[in-house]
Amino acid sequence: MFNGRYGMDELNRFMLILSAILFVLNIFVRVRFLWVAAVILLILVYSRAFSRFFDKRRAENMKFLEMKGSFGGKKPGAGAGGGFKKPGAAKNDGKRVLICPYCKEKLRVPVGAGTIKINCPHCHRQFEENV
Ligand SMILES: [Zn+2]
Repeated sequence: MFNGRYGMDELNRFMLILSAILFVLNIFVRVRFLWVAAVILLILVYSRAFSRFFDKRRAENMKFLEMKGSFGGKKPGAGAGGGFKKPGAAKNDGKRVLICPYCKEKLRVPVGAGTIKINCPHCHRQFEENV
């Protein structure tokens, strides 16, 4: 069936999984966009799998692998206020970002200490927070 055709690669597998996720999501969240996106992904997967332009497909796959590599294989952090953190930095473990209620400055505090008094280094006011 795949004789003389490109077949599956990492990019196709990724898009196939993504479209499956979108289809499942679409069951719970009835958004037409999800369904359309899933169908487009599937069409892309099949058109790539049956393509005869091996070089182009390989180049696409290489680009995809490079992109994946630059993310370090990890999903971008979903934590709150993490916009300035480097992805995958182990230094952030055990710390949490709080927002000072007075000056809205971002403060990093240790997690798991219970309710602690925090001295804001920015506005020098104190507030309590359960961490
Ligand atoms: Zn403050």
